[in-house]
Amino acid sequence: MPAHFDLIIRGGVCVMPWGEVAADVGVRHGRIAAIGTPADATADQIVDAAGLHVLPGLIDPHVHLRDPGNAAVETIPTGTKAAVLGGLTAVFDMPNTTPSITTAESLAWKRGYVEQVAWCDMGLYVGGTKTNIGELAALEVEPGVCAIKVFAGSSNGDLMVEDDEHLELVMRAGRRRIAYHSEDEYRLQARKPMFKSGDPYSSHAEWRDVECAALGTRRLMALARKTGRPAHILHVSTAEELEYLKDFRDIATMELLVNHLTQVAPDCYERLGGFGVMNPPIRDERHRAAAWAAIADGTVDTIGSDHAPHPYEAKLKPWPECPAGLTGVQTLVPIMLDHVNAGRLSLARMVDLMSAGPARVYGAINKGRLVTGYDADFTLVDMKAKRTIENKWIASPCGWTPFDGMAITGWPMATIVRGAVVMRDDEVLGAPTGKIVKFA
Ligand SMILES: [Zn+2]
Repeated sequence: MPAHFDLIIRGGVCVMPWGEVAADVGVRHGRIAAIGTPADATADQIVDAAGLHVLPGLIDPHVHLRDPGNAAVETIPTGTKAAVLGGLTAVFDMPNTTPSITTAESLAWKRGYVEQVAWCDMGLYVGGTKTNIGELAALEVEPGVCAIKVFAGSSNGDLMVEDDEHLELVMRAGRRRIAYHSEDEYRLQARKPMFKSGDPYSSHAEWRDVECAALGTRRLMALARKTGRPAHILHVSTAEELEYLKDFRDIATMELLVNHLTQVAPDCYERLGGFGVMNPPIRDERHRAAAWAAIADGTVDTIGSDHAPHPYEAKLKPWPECPAGLTGVQTLVPIMLDHVNAGRLSLARMVDLMSAGPARVYGAINKGRLVTGYDADFTLVDMKAKRTIENKWIASPCGWTPFDGMAITGWPMATIVRGAVVMRDDEVLGAPTGKIVKFA
């Protein structure tokens, strides 16, 4: 009897850690059952991958799906639909919703909700606050928790932990890697009176200057070293931090954002106004060049979108009334594929940063590479496809992207989540099948 599979991905080129291998992939019960299937193998479903690269499912480890919050901007159903249209098989969602996810009760609610409505798999951050430090050690080992997220600067309300005393207490509660938003809150507040409403949008990067980010990271590294607690510095945005963090590889991993690799000041502020405003800010070419150097030399572990949509009208407001944060979950993979085609990194390095990297940093089980027995998560890409990113393609209800009009070479053609084909040729298929990611 010939071998039978639930699904065979036929005729593609698999991107393995050791190189590219032309092989058919067989899937059974949502797992990878064979890389290389017998010629006479049969399957319930065949996905034609001729001319395509088969990547392990790509992960965006940094999204804000705003649910609960503002459904006119984004929800988990719409944000995960955007994710699969953009070639992502999993997203890790931030806790600063309304209300925020800081308790076992809110986390349990979110887990149940996700498994009813999400189109891709999800990891969930729990917010570390000054008032839940006693529960963090238990919260971080709850099912589905990718990490505790600490806003050491730049958040509204109860999620901020800005002082060393409380940061140290957070680090001494639990053992897993903590993810940080690192900007020094005291310096941010001290510099605020230097600016006024209606100043140019480029003031954003002057207010939240290099030293705001660098000082935040130096303070966090001192405490991480003192406590021995592993850290993940989200959205590193300065050449100074990238250099500094090289001496903390034993204790710190780091993320870069696609925005900081793609956009540059002052162009982004002149061209996009409020649609270029995010935290930490998009900075000048010196920092973008340093970010690409850090991709090349291995310093960087993960790449995220920091998808953080706001209403279109709100982004039209003058600075600093326009809220910081940009739509990005759907455009992350296309833009990175375009960077690969431009020769800025290899496809293998992109997979390392966007699949293996998040799996390694956060301890996601059975994800991150093409291995028999791992989850059957795949992103199928056409490296030659040419498209233009347009606002009308965006599935998030906010309806805009800062990359509107950008010509792209390289496009996600299919998204497969644990064996279910949920996107093919820019069309969402079937029903939401997302599950909570398991973490070590
Ligand atoms: Zn964020």
